[in-house]
Amino acid sequence: MATAQANTRSGDGGVTGRDDAVIEVRCPADGRVVGCVPGMGPAAVAAAAAQLRDAQPAWEELGPNGRAIHMRSFLDWILDNESRLVGIMQEETGKSWGDAALEISMAVDLINYYSAHAAEFLADRKVASWGAGGLTKKLRVFARPYQLVGMLTPWNGPLGGPMLDGVAALMAGAAVLFKPSEFTPLTWGEATRGWLEDIGAPPVLANVTGGPQTGAAVVEEVDMIMFTGSTRTGRKIAARAGERLIPCSLELGGKDPMIVLSDADIDRASRAAAWGAMWNSGQICISVERAYVEAPVYDEFVAKVTDKVKGLRQGMDPDGSFSTDIGAMCTPAQLDIVESHVNDAVDKGARVLTGGKRGENGQFFEPTVLVDVDHSMLCMRDETFGPTLPIMKVADEAEAVRLANDSRYGLSASVWTGDPARADRISRQLEAGAVNQNNVMMSTFQLTIPMSGWKESGVGSRSGGAAGILKFCRQQSVVSERIHLSSEPHWYPYVPRKNKIQAKLVRLLGAHDWRRRLGLPPRR
Ligand code: NAD
Repeated sequence: MATAQANTRSGDGGVTGRDDAVIEVRCPADGRVVGCVPGMGPAAVAAAAAQLRDAQPAWEELGPNGRAIHMRSFLDWILDNESRLVGIMQEETGKSWGDAALEISMAVDLINYYSAHAAEFLADRKVASWGAGGLTKKLRVFARPYQLVGMLTPWNGPLGGPMLDGVAALMAGAAVLFKPSEFTPLTWGEATRGWLEDIGAPPVLANVTGGPQTGAAVVEEVDMIMFTGSTRTGRKIAARAGERLIPCSLELGGKDPMIVLSDADIDRASRAAAWGAMWNSGQICISVERAYVEAPVYDEFVAKVTDKVKGLRQGMDPDGSFSTDIGAMCTPAQLDIVESHVNDAVDKGARVLTGGKRGENGQFFEPTVLVDVDHSMLCMRDETFGPTLPIMKVADEAEAVRLANDSRYGLSASVWTGDPARADRISRQLEAGAVNQNNVMMSTFQLTIPMSGWKESGVGSRSGGAAGILKFCRQQSVVSERIHLSSEPHWYPYVPRKNKIQAKLVRLLGAHDWRRRLGLPPRR
């Protein structure tokens, strides 16, 4: 039996794609093995997909209100098992208890939102007809789910990640084949078990485990693929989806800028920067990855942020104690990236005001503030996805906007100013799918607005009210007859009298001037 260690640098995380591989999951905080899952190959993935396809028609038939009953039972189960789920999540990610617990609130919010609104969002849409040809027609658009949606998720949010799109897809009436990250497969495995065994919900949710090859096998089986992860992998998914001619939706990496202007509330902005850069050890696609601060408030902002970051408590705290703020880095590879970005910055002249190095034990990286940075450095250009905040002084608003846009990413951004008109003006110049004014990251958790990565941060969008659920549906246009006619005017036979009248009608109703309407020759 092949063994792959998921959370160690040497392990291949089930990339073998063999049906007999086993993945060991290790706690990033202390290296303990906390679970094992199979690294499934294409045969196991195909079998799971076939079972889901069998179960999907009855699920769709239930309708949104019927599906909502199961969803709400799932919500009850999540709350009843809250501590256990947070504990599993914490063990496989090395998060602080507080970071892990936030994923429960995301799950609850998503289930309540889509269960409450699915019937309205999925309702048949009546559409007015247009033109003379539509006068006798009744037009409607039905939202019909893709039968099988595949979801590939990363390791930074083992419960929140699958939930973000999974709830909407299930409520749409699709069956969903999930593949969580090979580094963190345990939480979603337990959630799937709860859905199937504890609440006895229909088998329209399956969890296959393994690495990239298992993910690739999922892409081969499904009718639509929802991918959340790195830009590098997203490109591969999009290419294969293009070949298979299935739709794909991609939520990818980011390098979100924070712009702090001299008229901002610096106390609030510095608090937001500390949380926005360090939450989940910075392993959040929409975390604050770089800050641009106007010269007059630069010193004050830097001092206040550094003070707050210095005060953060790091470690994996005991169950339910909320006694640390910031946990470990989930994967050894990510820890290496963070270290290389900090070292590269220091080599090029940056100063570390706090943090700057790995912890002595476990996969920790100290919460770090960097200054004297510029765009020659990796920490200002590439996604760091770690607990670092590089801060750059800018002369004015224009320089801040120019530097913020100097990125291949465009996920979200934040703007800090006391002047709402200025905030709007800057927002309109930013190349980002969302802008938070005097806040950070909030846009992602507002389910009524879209989250869409621009540039290399994604293709398509999630959330956004009805759009969040309709993306998992095909639109089916349905045309029916208002009155019974034995034939239509444009059907056979073509005969001179009928067709000449038709041609005259086209002119009469379609032309924009009377000469053409009446078929008169144009004026010379
Ligand atoms: P990743 O791209 O390495 O992996 C994501 C998922 O894809 C995993 O389940 C992995 O097993 C699978 N996978 C990898 N290669 C594959 C392949 N060739 N074919 C099919 N599946 C494959 O990303 P990661 O390192 O797990 O996650 C970190 C990245 O995710 C960061 O870039 C972060 O910004 C991004 N992210 C984005 C969002 C968002 O909503 N935009 C949210 C969270 C994380």
